[in-house]
Amino acid sequence: MYKILFASSEVHPLIKTGGLGDVAGTLPVELAHLGQDVGIILPAYPACKIHLGNLTEVACLQLPSTPRPVRILKSQLPEGPNPVWLVDSPEYFDRPGNPYLDENGQDWPDNASRFATFCQAIAAFASHPALGRQPDIIHCNDWQTGLLPPLLSQAKNRPATLFTIHNLSYQGVFPRQQFEALKLPSGWWSPDALEFHQQFSFIKGGLVFADWLTTVSPTYAREILTPEFGCGLDGVLRRRAEHLTGILNGADYQHWDPIHDTFIEKPYDKSCWHHKAFNKLALQRHYGLLEDETIPLLGFVGRLVEQKGIDLILRALPKLLSEKVQVVFLGQGDEDYEHALQKLASRYPHQMGLSIRYDEQLAHGIQAGADIFLMPSRFEPCGLTQLYALRYGTVPIVRRTGGLSDTVVDATEENLRRGRATGFIFTEPTPSALLAAIRRALALYHQRSLWRQLALTGMEQDFSWRASAKAYLHLYRRLVPN
Ligand code: ADP
Repeated sequence: MYKILFASSEVHPLIKTGGLGDVAGTLPVELAHLGQDVGIILPAYPACKIHLGNLTEVACLQLPSTPRPVRILKSQLPEGPNPVWLVDSPEYFDRPGNPYLDENGQDWPDNASRFATFCQAIAAFASHPALGRQPDIIHCNDWQTGLLPPLLSQAKNRPATLFTIHNLSYQGVFPRQQFEALKLPSGWWSPDALEFHQQFSFIKGGLVFADWLTTVSPTYAREILTPEFGCGLDGVLRRRAEHLTGILNGADYQHWDPIHDTFIEKPYDKSCWHHKAFNKLALQRHYGLLEDETIPLLGFVGRLVEQKGIDLILRALPKLLSEKVQVVFLGQGDEDYEHALQKLASRYPHQMGLSIRYDEQLAHGIQAGADIFLMPSRFEPCGLTQLYALRYGTVPIVRRTGGLSDTVVDATEENLRRGRATGFIFTEPTPSALLAAIRRALALYHQRSLWRQLALTGMEQDFSWRASAKAYLHLYRRLVPN
């Protein structure tokens, strides 16, 4: 049995802004079910303290990045066997807003100090008696944990480190002064370490110093070795290519399965697929759209950022809305996109529904109620929402990139005939290519038996976490042979 410490800046259901939260709330549970001892460590945001309630202080650490001691609080994951450790530094984490942004959507100006403190606390706690035996492996996730591998590399007897890239475009890059203020070893100021074009890069800490790297789909693992997807780090990654593995994320079917989803109007599975229509009518009602189950209803759930191809949707919408369709959006993000969507929603009040907020329940409602799920991402490391859409019989339209390529099978004639098709894929990142894919989908939508087959084939797909957890375990064994 391995002892693993899973470090993440968000963990569902304690705190979540996107897919990382879903992964960190599920993979450790699945690994525990495979017999591993997996603890989770994250910052003590107010939401986590409220959610967990029963917290015990187990350590008090004096760290270089903060004058006040940092406490480690222990609790238990609400729906899993895993211990949870919170890094309690109120001056850094006890704030409104989300883990990275203030209430106005601006980056917290001291994010470098906040997440350096998080990493220093974990590095110190890894050898603390309160943790019992030192972990065999520390599994780091995204830039917020990027300083951990370099910090641990200084220790003589240290755990092995694995660094997972959930999204290479978020890198944690800060001015050089922040590097100096943190009094990190001067040798780390080098293009071979944490320096990135004269700036201080957290993610490079993970990419350069971790024993092994993973990312969240096989296709994205190949893509990030190229200048097009490498976000300036493809050279660093190519040097580590032999220690980089793509492992597809799973979907948490305990929370995302229409047959036992308590958030939705009416549960359904393959055997009572027609019950999906009740959810569609409920969604149309929610948005004040015409309640008519024959009108194709398209849904989008996601962060309103360039990555998600929201600009492609915006430019395709006027043409699309000239047809008999309805479209609903749930998301928040860049103000420009929010405003552009608001403008369109007020122009097409009978065809378009819009919610600019974070709403877990409505996310489930859209997955259950829509006929078609839009995900035209410019890049997509793995993507979870298309996996949820498949399980809900909501046919995804995706762009051919990253994890979307690995999880959706295009409805070509051949794939339809063989009963393999699960969605629609387009390649060029243009509004016309998106529109063409939507039109292909709409044409099939009206051939009801073919559409039913397409949706049911999607519902049959199994992207459960078990296979991913086994792949991670395999990697842990390579890192720490027992
Ligand atoms: P990413 O990690 O790039 O944000 P993913 O598809 O991997 O994209 O995961 C997004 C997760 O966040 C999904 O669980 C999705 O349902 C959820 N989500 C995104 N935006 C919202 C929102 N506005 N309200 C509720 N859930 C959201």
